[in-house]
Amino acid sequence: MGQGNKTKSLSANSKQFSPLSRKGLVIAIDGPAASGKSTAARLLAKRLGYLYLDTGIMYRALTWKALRDKVDIKNSKALSELVKGTRISLKPKSDLNIQVYLDGKDITSFIRSPEVNKYVSLVSTAGGLRKVMVAQQREIARCGSLVAEGRDMGTVVFPRADVKIFLQASFEERAKRRWKENKERGLSLATEEVEAELANRDRIDSQRKTSPLRRAKGAIVIDNTHLDIPETVEKMWEVVGKKIKC
Ligand code: C5P
Repeated sequence: MGQGNKTKSLSANSKQFSPLSRKGLVIAIDGPAASGKSTAARLLAKRLGYLYLDTGIMYRALTWKALRDKVDIKNSKALSELVKGTRISLKPKSDLNIQVYLDGKDITSFIRSPEVNKYVSLVSTAGGLRKVMVAQQREIARCGSLVAEGRDMGTVVFPRADVKIFLQASFEERAKRRWKENKERGLSLATEEVEAELANRDRIDSQRKTSPLRRAKGAIVIDNTHLDIPETVEKMWEVVGKKIKC
């Protein structure tokens, strides 16, 4: 599964990646929720002409399925079984929007619902499920020319990535962004509610046993508390540019 300019649609369970050769870099971007990773990484990929992989979508899609099928999300084994029988594919809709299909059904409008937001970090702690996800993500990167973003890109999935970036912003700024994002989606949540959800995600993502959110060895830190998206992309571009020159 991946999204980008070169390929119309990629599926995690398919072998559609062979036409690309290992020419370009693998760029691993990690950071906490609402740090602006997804938008910035997607624009960086577009600028480079690379595939873009939003691994958060994979975990969100699985969470949605687990909730729909009433799978016990505390049961790691049940989640591993669930992921094995699941087909997720992503299709770029526009520069910033991706259509998400789960077992053939368009679930784009569900994956950022408050319910998925609430449970996705818990689902993502399941080690067996992560193993399957990581294997799929590595398969996508087989041909290189990829910008991949998530929580464990530089630490676990691509420890030998050509470029590693850790994107961060203050908690207050991230909460503000998340509140705005929700509002644009028609969800008017109280500031306290948004902050509580974000703090909970931060806590689970950074304290879980398997693949906790960490700055990877060799990762360049970009703090975008005072940067907008184009400025963030510019900073990332500079980091990648340095790598390409040497
Ligand atoms: O990036 P996004 O906020 O969409 O990710 C949703 C959740 O998926 C994260 O809070 C995290 O719990 C999980 N995730 C993960 N590993 C990744 C990407 C996302 O555990 N590589």
